[in-house]
Parts: sequence; structure tokens; C-alpha cells
Amino acid sequence: MRQVYLDYAATTPTHPDVVKEMLPYFTESFGNPSSIHACGQANRKAVEKARASLAHLLGASEEEIVFTSGGTEADNYAIKGVAFAQKHRGNHIITTAIEHHAVLDTCHFLETMGFKTTILPVDRYGMVDPDNVRRAITPKTILISVMMANNEIGTLQLIADIGRIAKEKDIYFHTDAVQTVGHLPINVNSLGVDLLSLSAHKFYGPKGIGALYVRKGIKLVPLIHGGGQERHRRAGTENVPGIVGMGKAAEIAEKEMEEEEIRLTRLRDKLIAGLTERIHNIQLNGHPRKRLPNNVNVSIAFIEGEAICLSLDMEGIYASTGSACSSGSLEPSHVIMALKPPPEMMRSSMRFSLGKWTTAEDIDYVLEVLPRIVQKLRAMSPLTKKR
Ligand code: PLP
Repeated sequence: MRQVYLDYAATTPTHPDVVKEMLPYFTESFGNPSSIHACGQANRKAVEKARASLAHLLGASEEEIVFTSGGTEADNYAIKGVAFAQKHRGNHIITTAIEHHAVLDTCHFLETMGFKTTILPVDRYGMVDPDNVRRAITPKTILISVMMANNEIGTLQLIADIGRIAKEKDIYFHTDAVQTVGHLPINVNSLGVDLLSLSAHKFYGPKGIGALYVRKGIKLVPLIHGGGQERHRRAGTENVPGIVGMGKAAEIAEKEMEEEEIRLTRLRDKLIAGLTERIHNIQLNGHPRKRLPNNVNVSIAFIEGEAICLSLDMEGIYASTGSACSSGSLEPSHVIMALKPPPEMMRSSMRFSLGKWTTAEDIDYVLEVLPRIVQKLRAMSPLTKKR
């Protein structure tokens, strides 16, 4: 059976060149970068080379990169780090309804400690209005956290506009760029962001490694205490193979990004056009143009995303749904709910995320299989309106 992986937003395969680069650091080059002997110092050099590659990808300087265990830790560190360091200035954080749980749950945790959060709504395309950000600012606001691209619906936010507002009001601005780094050009200075989260496994690097960009001069309270690694910002012996792999992934991304963006946008639009042509009562979620080049998210009325996902799985197509099956009931995704969909569209979202190894033939296969599945599921669904 043909196998088509369309879940690159969940995770990407590690690029073979990245694996090759990492391998020696498990065996022959195993020293602790904090050791002063040659064996340790060789690895210190490798860690710093990777830091430089990552900084270059973001238009940042090397000392502004702090390695973390991934995107979740980077988000936690940015938000808790600012909240604890700035609590003498205020206790108010502004974020949005469509953030990843790594941001939303961190804000909810901080609420139990006396912080207050304003959660901004989005429009029907999942866009945050920068004027709403401005209006939500109070004298107690210490942080604005708005994601660069949404992981479910792919909508890209007006980050530079929000960055300008944050700068004007002298408030720190964090963006979760986990889905954007390595896929679209980013420059932290032209965007005006102070803190930016990223994760290697979303751009063909290994899992369990990421980073937080921290603008020079910003003091964060660390999440993890112990040794003095990462200039006392993140204790613990560095994950050298992971860091080396992420550095290599950043180098590859920088070389291939431009062409890949054009290629994926073409495939993305082919899939969107093909699905809307072949399936009635289908709706594209997210912004039609301001979206990630690899993201297609559709709601298919009257059937559940979970059922579509499982049927696709049986045909060798690996995608994902916005609904999570928990305790027997299908909880609609908070991102889809923020778009205020009609009831028949709430639990029916499907995300197809494309990547480096997606081909036009893969898209043709989905366009052949999915309409058939939808027809079958709709015929069985008690929700289908008989016309
Ligand atoms: N933020 C966003 C937008 C994500 O898509 C993800 C992963 O799905 C994360 C944060 C968490 O990243 P990690 O898996 O590296 O912890």
C-alpha cells in the first residue's frame, strides 16, 4: 500500500545529513562541553558552532540563543521567566485564544499565582487584530505572547505590527515560532520580538531539543537550577548530539527554504483546490493567503475528524485531526472553536501538513482517496442532512 505522511506539523523525519552530523557525538566525541580538557573543548566548539548557525537563521547574535529541551520548555521559560523577573512591574500578560497549550497552560498556571491573563479573540481566519493587542494593554502589562504561525490552521500573524506596539509601550514581546522557524525567513530585529521559541523536530532536526531567543539585556528567572550552563540561564549538561543536529538542520533550512516555500505552496494550493472541487460542504480553516506554505486544514461538515483520520490511516495516509478523543467524547479543538464555526463543522477538522518528501503524486492520492471516504462516512452519519 502507498504510504503518504502528511503530518509534518506534528513532527518531521530527521534529515539524513543531520543524523550523519550527530552520530560522532554519541561515540568518539563524547566529552562534556564544560570539561577543560581537549575532549570537552572539542564539544564546546561543536555546541558554539550550532549556536552560531541558529543565530544566523534568526538574524540574532550567538549570546541571545539559549538551548532548551524543545518548544514546550522554550515557551515555559519565556513566559514564566518574564513573569517572575518582572513581577515588581506588573502582573498582566496578553495572549491569544489560539496559542499552543505550552503557552495557554503556562498562563493558566501563572493565574494560580496571582498573575492575570487577557486572552484575545481571533477573526474567522484566525487572525489577531493588532489594535486589540493595543487596547488590552494596561499599566500592569509585562508580556505579550502571540504565536507566529498557528500549528493547526497555519494562519500567520501580523508579528511586526504587534512588535511595534510592544516596543512603543515598552512591554516584552514573545512569539512561539515553533511552526515557522526553518520554513519562512525570520529576522528578530525587523519583527521586533524580544523572545522567540523554536523546536528542532519541526524542521528536520532531532526531537527533544529547541531554543529560546532572548534579546540581549533581558533578564529571565531560570526554570531549571543547577550548573552554570547557558550563561546561568538553563542548567544541565548540554544535549550535544541534539544541539549539533539542530545546528545542521538550521544550515540546511537556510539553504533550502526559499525553493521549498515555493514548491510547498504550489502543492498546498493544489490540495486545497482539489478538495474544495471534489467535496461539497467543505471549508478551509485559516487564512486563504496568510498561511504556512505547508498547511491545509479543512472542516468537512457532518462527519467527525477522528473517523476521517482513522479511515485515511487504513489507506496509508497519515494526517491529523483537531479533535482529541478523550474519555469517549470528542473534544473540539480550542483553535477551531476560536473561529466560531457552525455546529456541523466543530468536530470535523482535518489537518494535512506537507513537507520535504511530499510529492504531487502524494497529493493526487489524497484527492483520489478522501472524497471516497467522505462519501462513505456521510452515508453512515446520523448528522448528515438528507437533501
Ligand atoms: N508550540 C507550537 C506552535 C507547536 O506546534 C509545538 C509542537 O507541536 C510546541 C509549541 C511544542 O514543541 P515541542 O514538541 O518541541 O515541545
